[in-house]
Amino acid sequence: MLKFFPCLLPLVMILAGCAHEPQEVSDKPGRYESTREMMGTYVTIVLWADGDAHARRAGDAAFEQIARIERSMSDYDADSELSKINREAFERDVQVSDAMLDVLKMSLEYAELSNGAFDVTIRPLKVLWKQAGEKNALPDAAAIAAARESVGSGKIGLDARAKTVRFLKPSMQLDLGGIAKGYAVDQAIAELRRQGVAAALVNAGGDIATMGAPPEAEYWKVGIQHPGKRDEMLPEVLKLSDAAVATSGDYERFVQVAGKRYSHIVDPVTGWPVGHVSSVTVIAPSATQADALATALSVLGPRKGIELAGRLPNIEAMFIIAADGAKTIVKSKGFDSYLLQTEDRNAKGNSPGKQARRKE
Ligand code: ADP
Ligand code: MG
Repeated sequence: MLKFFPCLLPLVMILAGCAHEPQEVSDKPGRYESTREMMGTYVTIVLWADGDAHARRAGDAAFEQIARIERSMSDYDADSELSKINREAFERDVQVSDAMLDVLKMSLEYAELSNGAFDVTIRPLKVLWKQAGEKNALPDAAAIAAARESVGSGKIGLDARAKTVRFLKPSMQLDLGGIAKGYAVDQAIAELRRQGVAAALVNAGGDIATMGAPPEAEYWKVGIQHPGKRDEMLPEVLKLSDAAVATSGDYERFVQVAGKRYSHIVDPVTGWPVGHVSSVTVIAPSATQADALATALSVLGPRKGIELAGRLPNIEAMFIIAADGAKTIVKSKGFDSYLLQTEDRNAKGNSPGKQARRKE
């Protein structure tokens, strides 16, 4: 099926590949795909629409939702809502947008559910470990202890009725890197639904949500990123319909100190990057849940992580633990029911989806 959006990325190939085709116009129903560079990664939207005009309208509106969330929650952008909160919330109550309130409320829920493993106040520790990488020297215990003073979800004062946030300790900084991408994906899906789209997949660098299924198929086929090898997918393929998946791993983003790799996910309790897990894949009803839980479970590790997944409705998880050249896989009870079996692979329908590579 033709692609009406300009093809931005000859190098990254997701779902169906990006061919340099002439731009045709169609008024027939069909499959449309577009990739844009956003949120520090590549975002791909695949959708089934009534024709070009419908696809373009729906796709543009969905990308705009993602852009809106990025403008609010980016920590690279000094003008973002998040940056303003980080600058001002210790001094005064800062008014927040509905999206920010939503994300902060959910962040506090996941902090509680995960017994503090998921924590959006992690930024002072993340900055410390980033500096450790730059200096090529481990932070000392005093520096870790000092950063931990400003970390803890209990130190966020959130007034949902007044829609304000306040930091209860000095030097606090929020980091929404473990949840905002999932939230943006969910907002894009909601917009596509409002635009009358019945089947769509949104993939933001491996945080994926699906709506419905392609015509004559029961589900979308979605690949899982290989934890150790960039650009490689695991043999397992997932079947997803009205469900989401996210993978957290240290394969792409980490700091290196004295020749050792440290994850970009930090345990708020110890102040140290998590060390025991290569990747965690979480299937959930929404991408926000999948994203936050993949980060939380990375901190909790396989035993507590699988236990938590088992207590939550419609959540499945898979841990890949690579150590000393050996690979161990630990899965929650229902995970395999989402796996495509060999006989399904030849079935008619959509092509296997791959997760996008992160932007360099
Ligand atoms: P990505 O999908 O971008 O690799 P993840 O969803 O795995 O990201 O989340 C990792 C990011 O979450 C980190 O880069 C950091 O910004 C943030 N983070 C790190 N540790 C935690 C934590 N314990 N709780 C919540 N967020 C965290
Ligand atoms: Mg996450």
